[in-house]
Amino acid sequence: MKRVIRLVLSSLCAAAVMLGAAGCSGDPKVSTAEPATLPVIGPDSSLPTGTAAPSPSADPTVPDTTKATEAPVPSTEETSAPTISTAAEPTEPSTAQPTGPQPSVPDVPADVTNFRTEGTNGYVIVIDPGHQAKGNNAQEPVGPGASETKAKVSSGTASRFGGRAEYQVNLEVALKLREELIKRGYTVIMTRTGHNVDISNIERAEIANGVNADAFLRIHCNGNDNASVQGISIYYQTPGNPYNGALHDEAKALNKCLLDHMVARTGGRNAGLVESDAYSGINWCKVPAGLIEMGFMTNQEEDAKLQDSAYQMLLALGMADGVDEFLSTRAPKNR
Ligand SMILES: [Zn+2]
Repeated sequence: MKRVIRLVLSSLCAAAVMLGAAGCSGDPKVSTAEPATLPVIGPDSSLPTGTAAPSPSADPTVPDTTKATEAPVPSTEETSAPTISTAAEPTEPSTAQPTGPQPSVPDVPADVTNFRTEGTNGYVIVIDPGHQAKGNNAQEPVGPGASETKAKVSSGTASRFGGRAEYQVNLEVALKLREELIKRGYTVIMTRTGHNVDISNIERAEIANGVNADAFLRIHCNGNDNASVQGISIYYQTPGNPYNGALHDEAKALNKCLLDHMVARTGGRNAGLVESDAYSGINWCKVPAGLIEMGFMTNQEEDAKLQDSAYQMLLALGMADGVDEFLSTRAPKNR
């Protein structure tokens, strides 16, 4: 059975990002940069020595002129049933608010890029919370050596129902995932720990490349003009990708594990694995990567879940389970 579906959504967040159309499926409702309000994710923890990379300088002169531009993508073509048939019930209750003694997970300082916390099991996972408070419409090549360029990074989509913006939800889930992976022994690197940073999609990929990451998880939420569309999907390159098609099989293996476990944990709709070469943040990767669309902020029911801390924890646990499974048959690349 062909498991990978060719799913193209008319207002795909990721497509909009990579195609240079800011704002995913429309104007983000949140337009001002808020102070970072990072969740406390470890009791009584001290700050580790971060390896903060110099943040690239923003170009404040670049006008934001693309808010009304929709990515020119074809209409939706969904051809596959969900690949998971036993995904009705979350398998574990929320553990978002532990009450007993917990392993100490070092907290993160705000607004640091390339922030590393050492683990013990030899594997290195890079987590990229998609977007940032303020997009950067300056251009960068869509792939190594490409003449085609796309926007460095957009500010992402946003809740249509009064909730927080995508870049905020992405970081909330990413921090939960970081905590869980550290507890499981992984070395974890965050491309960003706050919202007030400026890192392009290439720079995010190069953080993962620079450490030869065992897996690179790019955390996003989706949007669509059709408010009924919902589900979890993961994007990665085709086998014929001119930049890194050789990574297709590994990426597919990783993302199947991630998607299966995320659906199992959350009971969310399986919207499938999607192969595409439209994403600069994937095209620049030299390690197995997935662009994880956790759900649609344009669907009221799913947006409510995405805004909920307990549901976010289930998403994070699913991703951690997927990482566990993917790496269970692979030796650490850095050991
Ligand atoms: Zn996004």
